[in-house]
Amino acid sequence: MEYNHHANIDLHIHSTASDGTLSPIEILNQAEKLKISAIAITDHDTINGSKEALSIGIPSSLQFLTGVEISVSPLPSYLDSGTFHVLGYAIGSDDATLNRALDTLKTARKNRNPKIIKRLNDLGINLTMTEVLDIIGEVDQIGRPHIARVMIKKGIVKSIDEAFQKYLAVGKPAYVDKYRADAAKAIELILGAGGIPVLAHPYLLQLKKGKHFEDLIVALKAMGLRGIEAYYPDHSPDQTAEYIKIANRNDLLITGGTDFHGSLKPKIQMGSGTGDFFVPYDLYEKITAFSNMGTK
Ligand code: AMP
Ligand code: ZN
Ligand code: FE
Ligand code: FE
Repeated sequence: MEYNHHANIDLHIHSTASDGTLSPIEILNQAEKLKISAIAITDHDTINGSKEALSIGIPSSLQFLTGVEISVSPLPSYLDSGTFHVLGYAIGSDDATLNRALDTLKTARKNRNPKIIKRLNDLGINLTMTEVLDIIGEVDQIGRPHIARVMIKKGIVKSIDEAFQKYLAVGKPAYVDKYRADAAKAIELILGAGGIPVLAHPYLLQLKKGKHFEDLIVALKAMGLRGIEAYYPDHSPDQTAEYIKIANRNDLLITGGTDFHGSLKPKIQMGSGTGDFFVPYDLYEKITAFSNMGTK
């Protein structure tokens, strides 16, 4: 099979196994239609999306990496509470230790949902867990985005953004914290499953005052980090260039993806983000050269 080396790749995609709105088969079909040459399904705290895609069968025009995106707790010496996500690529999806740890994280998310509903009820909003389950139907994992979708359906808010900004985001009245793994633990789990740990969308990190991003990268690399997601739709060209420079200086892989979530993030298209976004194919080759577990 001759792959199109000028085509783009998308190594950050969410499926219905977490909070994306397309199932793994729909993602494979869409990637094929858009002529994307390589993808990874990177669901929050689960590899079920990747597993399902593999069991369906990857179209011959497409290359595929298993993936996961683990939410981790901030490193106390470098970060304030913010969004800190570690991606894992080319992981052995049957690794028992990783699967057990992911189950713990999934349980934490599941146990949090009724607490969020209770907060919303205390704020005078009429919503039950049963309604959420009825409206969302069969999905692997329910989280805040699903609750937000039900709030739209019930006319409580007009958009996902409004639901987060008014109620569900960190610091808002219906926010409930949940258990997260340590960065070192998440990295160890990914390495233990034969995978490649990568820092996701670094622009979302909240560095403590006086702390430097590159020092954080050095600390994470000492834990086993192997790459930085430099290409991301919300990164400015300057930010992308800076992340690439830091990755090169520290001998780390460079990755990229759109964080496609289907209609949950309607402005973001698979492979092309808001339109002119592009992740070059040669990054995929460097990642697979690094790992003999890249499939196909
Ligand atoms: P949860 O897994 O329940 O903590 O939900 C986290 C997910 O919600 C994130 O990964 C995003 O996909 C989504 N999310 C977080 N903040 C926002 C926001 N402001 N607007 C839309 N979606 C968001
Ligand atoms: Zn998400
Ligand atoms: Fe993320
Ligand atoms: Fe993501």
